[in-house]
Amino acid sequence: MDAYLASRELRDADHFFLNINFEVLNGCRFQCRGCHVQKGAQTPLGPGEAASFLRLMRSFRESLYLPFIAFVGPTDFLVAENTEALFRDDAFVEILRTFRRVSLQTTYLDVRKADAIASLLAERLHGIELEINLVVDPARIMDDAYLAALEANKRDFLARLGRDDVRSFGIMNVYDYDQTKIPHLLRDYDFMHRRVGHLFETTIDYNFSAGRDPDLTNEDFLKLSDRIKNLFNQSILSDEKAQYLRFSFGKLTDSLVERQYNYRGGKLYYSPLLYERFVSFRPEFEVPLAGEDAREIEAFEARVQLEQYARATEKDECESCPFLASCVDRGILFLMDSFGTRRCLVAKNALFAVNSMGSLPVPQP
Ligand code: SF4
Repeated sequence: MDAYLASRELRDADHFFLNINFEVLNGCRFQCRGCHVQKGAQTPLGPGEAASFLRLMRSFRESLYLPFIAFVGPTDFLVAENTEALFRDDAFVEILRTFRRVSLQTTYLDVRKADAIASLLAERLHGIELEINLVVDPARIMDDAYLAALEANKRDFLARLGRDDVRSFGIMNVYDYDQTKIPHLLRDYDFMHRRVGHLFETTIDYNFSAGRDPDLTNEDFLKLSDRIKNLFNQSILSDEKAQYLRFSFGKLTDSLVERQYNYRGGKLYYSPLLYERFVSFRPEFEVPLAGEDAREIEAFEARVQLEQYARATEKDECESCPFLASCVDRGILFLMDSFGTRRCLVAKNALFAVNSMGSLPVPQP
């Protein structure tokens, strides 16, 4: 699976890999737990914006950024009300086709539009990589009928697409799992993965959708990040498990060569990597974008990086932590500042395990 990541390219890394998450899909009839998407708040790119974005992409390429993944979300593409309109829009598809891969996500709970959307994607995204990620409700991992329906609908959709090269990642929203009927099971990564791992080819990615909530309190953010931190720290305690979880969690080299941003309503937002891409539209996340010049974005990145190093001394553990450079690259200290905490957000023991293959035991705190 490592061969699917940007870091496979480190051996010939003469550019950064650029990922943009386009928040352009509106409408979803589901109320997935832990989902904080404002389902009608997206404004797809108009013709002027699309032309401007293409100029920005040209500038990125001239600045040695290689467009890598275009995420198209944030709602389920099989039920969003504007999926078909977007993929018929020549200007938007032209933008997508500047990337190597397009990534979509679905619950596979409503496939009534599957036929029409599959034909459209087959035609419009022909020749570029496609990944279709599966949003799984953690509260329903013991529901065999639910899992069987996801599996059948996924198989059916991929058959309609007529492609055998489509990859799938598993996504779970992060929320207070103590409010489910199976909180004890949701603390056991291995168990969860055994229940749902057959639905996708990788491990489970945890999505902090709550970052989109403009009213998310510092306390609630910390509770959510602690939940995943504890889950990983308690799950990765052997070389075998470190190998098993190596892909989805904490491979330090990815942050060296990847840059990612969220795009919504004509604005670009910084996207830290806390296990998964973190989406927030708070003012401090907005990247100034006066022109269509990648150098503005590089200047923002450089400033954010330096500020994180400068403020590492204010944090409880960061200054002497071996993961400081990676956490700065991932914007973790930026997140700590944004949510007013000095406490480490990261599953550090798990990071040791994942990045110390063959040299466990993991240092205990
Ligand atoms: S792992 Fe934790 S302590 Fe270390 S640099 Fe990152 S946030 Fe700071």
